[in-house]
Amino acid sequence: MPELPEVETVCRALAPRLGGRRVVAVHVFPGPLRTPLHEPALQAALAGRQILAVRRRAKYLVVELTGRHALLLHLGMTGHFRVCPKTEPREKHARVEWTLDNGQAWRYIDPRGFGQVRLCRLPAPGAEPSELAGLGPEPLEDGFSGAVLAAAGRGRRCAVKALLLDQAVVAGVGNIYASEACFRAGVRPQRPAGDLKRRAWDKLAAAVRAVLAEAVQCGGTTISDFRDVDGNAGRFDVNLQVYGRDGEPCVTCGARAKIHRLVIAGRSSFYCQHCQK
Ligand SMILES: [Zn+2]
Repeated sequence: MPELPEVETVCRALAPRLGGRRVVAVHVFPGPLRTPLHEPALQAALAGRQILAVRRRAKYLVVELTGRHALLLHLGMTGHFRVCPKTEPREKHARVEWTLDNGQAWRYIDPRGFGQVRLCRLPAPGAEPSELAGLGPEPLEDGFSGAVLAAAGRGRRCAVKALLLDQAVVAGVGNIYASEACFRAGVRPQRPAGDLKRRAWDKLAAAVRAVLAEAVQCGGTTISDFRDVDGNAGRFDVNLQVYGRDGEPCVTCGARAKIHRLVIAGRSSFYCQHCQK
């Protein structure tokens, strides 16, 4: 599933292609999506409106249009976008097409159909949709720190990694980067959150920031066929130190330990028994 770095990559690619354009028409094509779409409602809300901004919040994209209208977009497992001349053949799993005033088509394509395309109204221009009100701080911004994690983890018996995946604690971290951050911080992902000392939380917060920032630089990770708007794969895969590497020697301690896989809160987690305490 695309996490913060992948969604940020998509956001940066879409912003210059969509910003300032006017939506001429909207078409919805048959096929599943997590929330059903109503073509006349999309048309009524968006046609004739100008796209003012494309932003990311957690794993969501917010496309703001004039009149405080916005699209709230989530890529689910396999969702992606394409911006191309409208005359180009439509992709097999295209779900929505916005025709723009420059003859380009902006398409949302989603083979598995777990993504979301929702209309919403913003409380004020530039504000966040109320649908995202429950999200925690952005990990790459100032509101996130070891103190935030320590406060959220105090007295909790849940696994450290489950805490990192809780979008109300920190927004945008998913399964891949949670495992990687625990490894870099030297913290076992299965440890009960309430047992960690403040120093460990500080290391974990720093590791979350570092791993996400590096992945953004690399254009994300190509797990689950992630592709950016131009169809390019992300380049962070080679930097994954534990994710998907069960049975391989640890990159830090070498032959002393192999990477273990275990399931935490229903998700695969990877760690080194030697390097992570
Ligand atoms: Zn190790």
